[in-house]
Amino acid sequence: QGSKPRNFPMVSRVVFGSGSFDQLDEILEPLRGDAEGIVVFLMDDVFEDTHLHGRIPSMEQDLLILISAKEEPKTEQVDALAAHITRNASDLPVAVVGIGGGTLLDLAKAVAIMVNNTGSSAEYQGWDLVNTPAVYHIGVPTLSGTGAEVSRTTVLMGPERKLGINSDYTPFDQVILDPDLTIGVPRDQWFFTGMDCYIHCVESLNGSYINAFSQSYGEMALALCKEVFLEDLSPEESREKLMMASWHGGMSIAYSQVGIAHALSYGLAYVMGTPHGLGNCLVFQHLEAFYPEGVRLFRQMLRKHHIELPLKITRSCSQSDFETMIEVSYGMEPLWENALGPDWKSIISRDQLLEIFQKI
Ligand code: NAD
Ligand code: ZN
Repeated sequence: QGSKPRNFPMVSRVVFGSGSFDQLDEILEPLRGDAEGIVVFLMDDVFEDTHLHGRIPSMEQDLLILISAKEEPKTEQVDALAAHITRNASDLPVAVVGIGGGTLLDLAKAVAIMVNNTGSSAEYQGWDLVNTPAVYHIGVPTLSGTGAEVSRTTVLMGPERKLGINSDYTPFDQVILDPDLTIGVPRDQWFFTGMDCYIHCVESLNGSYINAFSQSYGEMALALCKEVFLEDLSPEESREKLMMASWHGGMSIAYSQVGIAHALSYGLAYVMGTPHGLGNCLVFQHLEAFYPEGVRLFRQMLRKHHIELPLKITRSCSQSDFETMIEVSYGMEPLWENALGPDWKSIISRDQLLEIFQKI
């Protein structure tokens, strides 16, 4: 952490409200300049031929690319997209717009960086390795929870590990928070991605890196999550509050870090391809020893929403699969240090990780 407080960039503009998606056109107008500027829209293909697809303010020169979120973002995919854009556009795009859940938001952030940086995105996985600013990028979440709309990272599966491009150029320049866009998210997905936010709060608030800045956001997000998942809000209120919980949860991580659930979930995802939200839930249920109150409330939320987590998904994993999972998880040093302090290696052993992975 060092002694000097970090100086963080933040999302510079944000619009919140039902129907605000339709302001995208006027937001893009000044960026297009004399109307020649190319805008790249990356949209989750779940919206293909929907009302939302029709509302995209694209012009002739623009690129509208539909992308499946079935698999989470990969460095190769980002590189291919950036190459495709550079090939098809005579100039740098004036904006990259990501429309979707965490997967599309992260892709948009990474592509915006890579169209203006050389080499492969894998070279920038880590902390502060990006040299040249990204092109202007706009995030439009359609699923709440990851906090990818505010965070300073874009998490990519690379050739060696799942790791973020954490840089001052990563955060969006503009975010459009339109809670109506989350209408239609399947119930399980709503829960799992919502729990990503809840788990961010628990891990951040119970971590050793916490300071008043992160705590204030974490507490707000946690309170909103409790309302959304344990009370009976109207659908509209629930969508609005979860969208703001995601925002605050993401902000809470700025000075802080996630913790044990994320370290384990990254290992699980690396080997099994388990989606982030589900993976977090699968590991979190076994972390009572570390987050007793957090896990107790989590179980209550599962019951209230009749969510059944899949059982024994690591049943057919080989010894070497488990070893890889442990290796990837154990390698997430800042997460462990945040959760358990500098002596974390003496508190949690590889065997304990194996035990947890075998239970999942
Ligand atoms: P996602 O974007 O992967 O989407 C999950 C599913 O929901 C997909 O099938 C998608 O098509 C569908 N979906 C999304 N919006 C929908 C809508 N409005 N209606 C119907 N279906 C919809 O899910 P996610 O949980 O938001 O994102 C997970 C990703 O976010 C992972 O790659 C993870 O690494 C990343 N993440 C990033 C950060 C960050 O700070 N950058 C933080 C946490 C997680
Ligand atoms: Zn997360």
